[in-house]
Amino acid sequence: MGFLVVYKGNQGGSVTIPDSEFEAIKPASAVFSCPLCEEIFESQELLQDHKIAAHPLKRPYLVIHGSAVGSDAVCMKKRLERGDLGVENAEQTYLDGELFDDPDKMLATLVANQSGRRVVTLSYQSYQVEVGLTFDLISDAALKLVEEYFQDVFSAQELSAEKLRQFDSKLQEAHCGNTYAGGLGCYVSGIMAKDRVRSSGLAFEQFNEKFGEALDALESIDTELSKSIKAAILFSRNQFVRSMNATFLPQLSAAAQFMTSGEFRDVEVETVPRSVLLPIDSVTDSVVMFCTRGATYRQSAAESLLGISKTSSISLEDRDKINFALMCHNLELSMIDKAKGYFRKVRHSVAFKEVAVNIMGLSDGN
Ligand SMILES: [Zn+2]
Repeated sequence: MGFLVVYKGNQGGSVTIPDSEFEAIKPASAVFSCPLCEEIFESQELLQDHKIAAHPLKRPYLVIHGSAVGSDAVCMKKRLERGDLGVENAEQTYLDGELFDDPDKMLATLVANQSGRRVVTLSYQSYQVEVGLTFDLISDAALKLVEEYFQDVFSAQELSAEKLRQFDSKLQEAHCGNTYAGGLGCYVSGIMAKDRVRSSGLAFEQFNEKFGEALDALESIDTELSKSIKAAILFSRNQFVRSMNATFLPQLSAAAQFMTSGEFRDVEVETVPRSVLLPIDSVTDSVVMFCTRGATYRQSAAESLLGISKTSSISLEDRDKINFALMCHNLELSMIDKAKGYFRKVRHSVAFKEVAVNIMGLSDGN
């Protein structure tokens, strides 16, 4: 066996340890200074800790209509005002690559030219965010023209595929085919499908699809015609709360109020020359008339409304509306048994169960 000498410095032994040549090289007293506040740290780790604590990295945001844009691409369908826009946490702002010292100026420049695609770049230290805004605006003049054509072709007239073609070619002549016009066309197609107009080339079931496409295209357009069509589609889908606010469509709005309360409201409508007549499908037309033309009219029309509800070519939503209206009509005539029959048909429908239970509960005292 043997021993290995354990050196303890050179105190314990006689052997002198030679100076290591490495000891001569003192580690450079490296300093790590913060690029943001110039505070100094002994190590990269400490500097890193400081940066996180003292200068948290914030995500810069472009703010549109009060909410931060989270995606890198947005499509604008409505004209922006300067007040609709803001930036948050941005130390530097760029528009289409050009640096702006003042974010306000950048936003004002953006608002001044809302066309095509414009790119806003915001940075906070190393955090950079880019938002591409694509403007798909329809000018007021184009809106007006589209609505005039729509009125010329469809107002107070029988709908047909021929009429749709006429609408299309008028728009093309005026170089005015846009999303809005497309949406109006979808609404008309939806009505034709719902009314089973043969020339539409659409199956009955497709009416809802067409209505959905119309709602999408009309979403950002706030003209009376657009709002009227949206209200009519929502009524067709038994979403009455939004359709009863359509004050410029008094009959539809009164019918929607009836559907949520069970109280018939008579509406006098005078048609003045050049007034806009919105095309609606024939079931909606019958339901709206029944609910708003007064008690005498109801008595004469009840039988035919019942007939409509018994055909197979009717949507579930429309059948529910008719059963509910007939329930209320029979209550009005004190025909309780008949009313109860209709009640059994609507008591499970989402749109009517609450109001129907309420009305029947009130009337027969149970
Ligand atoms: Zn710092």
